[in-house]
Amino acid sequence: MSRTASTAAPVLPIRGRLRPLGLGDVRITGGFWAERQSVNAEATLAHVEYWLERAGWTRNFDLAASGDIARERRGREFSDSEVYKLLEAMAWEIGRTGDEGLESRFRSIVERVAAAQEPDGYLNTKFGRPGQAPRWSDLEWGHELYCVGHLLQAAVARARTRPGADDGLVEVARRAADNVCETFGPGGIDGLCGHAGIETALVEFARVTDDDRYLAQAALFVDRRGHGRLSDVEFGREYFQDELPVRHATVLRGHAVRANYLAAGAADVAVELKDASLLDAVRNQWQNAVARRTYVTGGQGSRHQDEAFGEDWVLPPDRAYSETCAGIGSVMLAWRLLLADGDPRYADLIERTLFNVVSTSPSADGRSFFYTNTLHRRELGTLPDADRPSLRAAASLRAPWFEVSCCPTNVARTLASLTAYVATSDDEGLQLHQYMPGAVVHRRADGRDLGVSVATNYPYDGEIRVRIDTDGPGSDADDPWSLSLRVPGWAAEGATLTVAGQTRPVGPGVVTERRAWRRGDEVVLCLPMAPRFTYPHTRIDAARGCVAVERGPLVFALESVDVPGVETVDELRVDTSQAPRLVDGRVTVRCERVRADEPDWPYRTDPDGSAPVADEQFDEVPLVEYHAWANRGPSTMRVWLPTTA
Ligand SMILES: [Zn+2]
Repeated sequence: MSRTASTAAPVLPIRGRLRPLGLGDVRITGGFWAERQSVNAEATLAHVEYWLERAGWTRNFDLAASGDIARERRGREFSDSEVYKLLEAMAWEIGRTGDEGLESRFRSIVERVAAAQEPDGYLNTKFGRPGQAPRWSDLEWGHELYCVGHLLQAAVARARTRPGADDGLVEVARRAADNVCETFGPGGIDGLCGHAGIETALVEFARVTDDDRYLAQAALFVDRRGHGRLSDVEFGREYFQDELPVRHATVLRGHAVRANYLAAGAADVAVELKDASLLDAVRNQWQNAVARRTYVTGGQGSRHQDEAFGEDWVLPPDRAYSETCAGIGSVMLAWRLLLADGDPRYADLIERTLFNVVSTSPSADGRSFFYTNTLHRRELGTLPDADRPSLRAAASLRAPWFEVSCCPTNVARTLASLTAYVATSDDEGLQLHQYMPGAVVHRRADGRDLGVSVATNYPYDGEIRVRIDTDGPGSDADDPWSLSLRVPGWAAEGATLTVAGQTRPVGPGVVTERRAWRRGDEVVLCLPMAPRFTYPHTRIDAARGCVAVERGPLVFALESVDVPGVETVDELRVDTSQAPRLVDGRVTVRCERVRADEPDWPYRTDPDGSAPVADEQFDEVPLVEYHAWANRGPSTMRVWLPTTA
């Protein structure tokens, strides 16, 4: 595949086990994700645009071009990146739907951004102008390179969805990238950014422009990290992964967004440069982080203080930070590894994280967001003022905007480009990784179209009907190709595949059918959708003695609004002798309400003295899909439920 291939997707590696299919090849036509894409398009993009304007972050570009930016600039040091993430989201959305109204809004923001670029290509509203700190004077916290990274990602989205468009964004990005290479290339500043992100962006920009200088610069940034070039900070150098070279690290650590972005960039560099040992290191870090540092929701990061991964097994539900952006970073990393290796475990984590972190952040109306995604709320939250930005983790419920508002724009760009994370191709045929109603058509190198459509009510129903939409090249030509479907890891028992009337059991992994497919042929994957109890590993102390409830890829929660008379869900214990049941479309469990004494000192020498006493029985307590919690006002909530056992 050429680097300049025009597939409309965020990640286009030059080599790897699988090739991504883009917005032109895949359509999502209904269901869970189509609904979210449409709320994103109709509400979130305008909401974000409004707040960026209102917060003054877009106006910073105007002030930088012709105003008193030093005196009047508003927002944190990384606020430029939120404008770029909106541009990226808009570019994908325009590519997806061809919305001309959005196109003109997009162009007008690009014009304002372009006007602020300095003659040598440098572009940042926080540094370098009279009265401001000098350029590159705060690599630890300044986020200048990080911001350029998001500018490049916006340009990549634009170049791949409207190739040759005359809005100028790609040229602005090219000048900014050139400025970075001139400043930080060989012989330049021997430094790197405190927040990774430019690495993935430079590699992707190299793929778009077919210019290896950007790739070389990305490789340089990856190699420079881990040698203490950044000054020590209060959280330690691990915070920005500068305590250990990427290729020596064995687990994701430090700030969870930075860690995922860096690993994703290292994977990109490794794939492009055929650096097998670097790719091995990233795989290993991913594996260990998933095995010991990831919440059941797919969320990552249990430390509030530095928004960071905890040590192994430190996964307290009530102190889960699980930043929305860390979930998005995790999807970015797993997608790159999936393309490189084809291992379905990466797609499993993507599915879990999309359903239980990314889709949890936005409210049903797409106008407020969770920044952190706790798994346990003990007290009623307070509704944030709809007219004022919240502090990031301070908001106990979804807030319209934050002083640090990385998550809303990140959700917007992810949902707008989600179509590109559904399916891939290889020389053998097509692979479906995520299930939703839609269609995939891929034109092979030999000009032949391979097409399928998917009918399903997943994740509410386990039946996934895949119909072949394209004929063989001749009426009776025998030209077989392979259709591969992912059987999720949670479907350990009971999944079946039906092809040509023959049904057989299938287990987790990838199931591939190779045939001379005819238009109208059908493959039906049936996944077991009975709700199930999930138990934590014995080393996760904070969840010991508890169960979670899952159904398909969805994690459930007990929310107080569903239990009349109970304000504190912590009073309830689940009776695990009865499996969770589906009643009128809702997952339910049997619970006891228990009364524990409340002594002056909550510790005692008598081991049974504080055993709670059951005082009420609830036969069918409905649970809420975790992503949908807190959409009905303040509540208490928990994912890990104590049991009566
Ligand atoms: Zn964020």
